[in-house]
Amino acid sequence: MMPYNLLVTCLAVYHVYSSPAYGQKVVIVGGGVSGLAAAQHLCKEGVCNITVLEAEDRIGGRLYTDRFHDEVIERGAQWMHGIRGNPVYWIVSRNYDVVLDEWGVISGTSKLSSGRKSHPATDKLLTASQELYGEFYKNLSTIANPDLLKDKILMHEMRKAWERKLVSLNNTIDKDITDAVFYYTMTKWSLETGERALNVSILALLHYRYLVGGDITIPQGYSVFLDILQKSIPKSAIKVDREVTKIVWQKSKSDDRLGDATNKSVDSQVKVEFVNREGDKESIFADHVIVTVSVGVLKRYHRNMFLPELPKQKVRAVNNMELGVVNKIFMYYEIKFWNDTDFPMRLLWDALNASKFTDDARWYRDIDLVEIHSENMLRVWANAHVSREVLDLSNAEIGRRITEIFRIFMRDEVIPFPDDVFVTRWHKNKHFLGSYSYIAPGLTKFKKRIAAKPLSVDGIPKVLFAGEAMHLNRYATIDGAYRTGIREARRILKLYSKQ
Ligand SMILES: Cc1cc2nc3c(=O)[nH]c(=O)nc-3n(C[C@H](O)[C@H](O)[C@H](O)COP(=O)(O)OP(=O)(O)OC[C@H]3O[C@@H](n4cnc5c(N)ncnc54)[C@H](O)[C@@H]3O)c2cc1C
Repeated sequence: MMPYNLLVTCLAVYHVYSSPAYGQKVVIVGGGVSGLAAAQHLCKEGVCNITVLEAEDRIGGRLYTDRFHDEVIERGAQWMHGIRGNPVYWIVSRNYDVVLDEWGVISGTSKLSSGRKSHPATDKLLTASQELYGEFYKNLSTIANPDLLKDKILMHEMRKAWERKLVSLNNTIDKDITDAVFYYTMTKWSLETGERALNVSILALLHYRYLVGGDITIPQGYSVFLDILQKSIPKSAIKVDREVTKIVWQKSKSDDRLGDATNKSVDSQVKVEFVNREGDKESIFADHVIVTVSVGVLKRYHRNMFLPELPKQKVRAVNNMELGVVNKIFMYYEIKFWNDTDFPMRLLWDALNASKFTDDARWYRDIDLVEIHSENMLRVWANAHVSREVLDLSNAEIGRRITEIFRIFMRDEVIPFPDDVFVTRWHKNKHFLGSYSYIAPGLTKFKKRIAAKPLSVDGIPKVLFAGEAMHLNRYATIDGAYRTGIREARRILKLYSKQ
């Protein structure tokens, strides 16, 4: 009998060489979750002639587990959102411990802090505001053609629903308080989208699919998922510090009609040009290229990146997509000042506490959620405007300003400044330009499909598009990114399995 190990090796080799796609060269632009998912899936199915070109000096992209004062911190993705139907959860939990994190559950006002904290009316209104989403969603989901609502702004529609709700409650409470509760409720959206609800489409409520099971973290750090993905990719296939500058996907031999996607006179391979870590230009040819860069990067650089340029309809669709900005601020204290019951704290800004800030400090309203990260560290979420406006300041200044907020909300003038501060600045890095995508006004599923459609030559998809933003209903998540990588890998594999 053949020894088991030998049998496994023979089967693997047979699988690789018998695959009709073996020998096809695939280049993947970007070594984030979607790029690695595509690479590992292709390789598992026998297409191991792959190169992943990653511009940063590390893989993982917006999944970035790091350390700060010896603690694991997630600079980017933190949770696996949902269990049922979440492939990432199943892959990770088979190999590592995972923990249910109940950060989003607001049980009473103990988790809130504001000038009106103990006002019983605020409690009642908060409960009503929580119900608002469910009711609003229920109404929306009965609409036959939701795309007709594409230009409706989430903030405006929710505001109208809130006013109706207040009437139905026979509300007599001050506008100051009802407004504060409403804006507090809307901050959920600046965390979910990285943008104020004023710039988010009402379709955001319908497009995104929630998965049952809550939000799950991995104590060892989310990067264990990268370790799992990498296992099936040859080490030599992943090249970091390689910034792709040009993708020549259709080359005219006879004339200069480079923009004409119908021109049949083409070289069959795609040329990918990049700059290596020494700053030298290099190029590589491939049968297929999977582009996984963030939609922010795609929007900013597509004109120079693709030759010929992207088709106009695709450009319009991509330009309608938006990347939100969410950043995290980690505040380290040698001696902690808080009690464990003080946090998590979500900040309900009413006129009383807002008035303690000058107008030029309006950024504070987008500081939303403060959590205990570890024994001596707090984690603060800075969304949308605050990220854009304030994070140019030094880390120490940001720490000082956030301490001002703590002092007001916790009514304690002697809360100390942190001993050290770490701030992510995703929107400043030219390889990301933001945090995750959201549904902007005007963006329909139809347009998203066009944005994600491959560039084909003679009916063969040559340049394919993956990445979180290219998923119809799990965009903005790790599993959405993962699914698009697998989707595009399968698209390539399907081409050859037909032959
Ligand atoms: C602060 C923050 C919190 C988040 N929280 C969560 C969360 O809790 N749960 C969750 O599910 N998701 C979360 N996300 C979203 C999640 O991280 C992303 O959806 C996911 O990581 C995107 O993966 P991707 O492969 O699509 O893109 P990316 O990770 O952006 O990968 C694309 C890669 O392309 C590279 N690149 C760019 N330009 C070039 C070029 N010219 N040449 C070569 N390479 C290039 C980039 O460096 C990058 O590595 C969060 C993100 C952020 C920033």
